[in-house]
Amino acid sequence: MARILIAEDEPRITEFLEKGLRAAGYSTVTVDDGEIAASLARDDDFDLLILDLGLPSLDGIDVLARIRKRGERIPVIVLTARSEVHDTVAGLEAGADDYVTKPFRFEELLARVRVRLRSEGNEEQTVLRVGDVSLDVRTRRASVGERTVELTAREYSLLETFLRHPDQVLSREQLLSIVWGYDFDPGSNVVEVYVGYLRKKLGNGVVETVRNMGYRLPAA
Ligand code: CA
Repeated sequence: MARILIAEDEPRITEFLEKGLRAAGYSTVTVDDGEIAASLARDDDFDLLILDLGLPSLDGIDVLARIRKRGERIPVIVLTARSEVHDTVAGLEAGADDYVTKPFRFEELLARVRVRLRSEGNEEQTVLRVGDVSLDVRTRRASVGERTVELTAREYSLLETFLRHPDQVLSREQLLSIVWGYDFDPGSNVVEVYVGYLRKKLGNGVVETVRNMGYRLPAA
């Protein structure tokens, strides 16, 4: 299991990242301080660092510079609330591998995380399968039995989330947070709507409604 260090001082975003990355099968450690991030980010301990630029005690750019100076090659994805080009350029020059501008959707970050981990040789499971339903995370193709199903990006993310948690009841809020992101309106009914799309494409029994609790993809 790939280990990810998250250096971010905004609790709402930290929680969002932690939840999403764990749901995607990664193990995470979070810190909210630049000095601590710089001392913990070692190749032997982590496979990836997600680094906010605005951190207390030591700025993200300086964290990055310190890590690289020490010779660590850990891949780093920078998070920045500042969309100004110069911050991004400074980050990349200081040795970041990629960057994501806040606010971002979780799947956008996850895609970048996967690219970084893949290029480091941590090949993850490429086909998720539960019962008749399978999903190839490289080709993004879903199938039910012998039948291939075309999914939109959002349907794909939703199905992937279910497949990574077979038999587990996932609440509307969990699904909103994982698939749609932290800045999504909690009162929205998109989860219901998209579960409906999945049922239409994959078959009615694929996703169960668990009354007053959420949804579940049954394992058998
Ligand atoms: Ca910050």
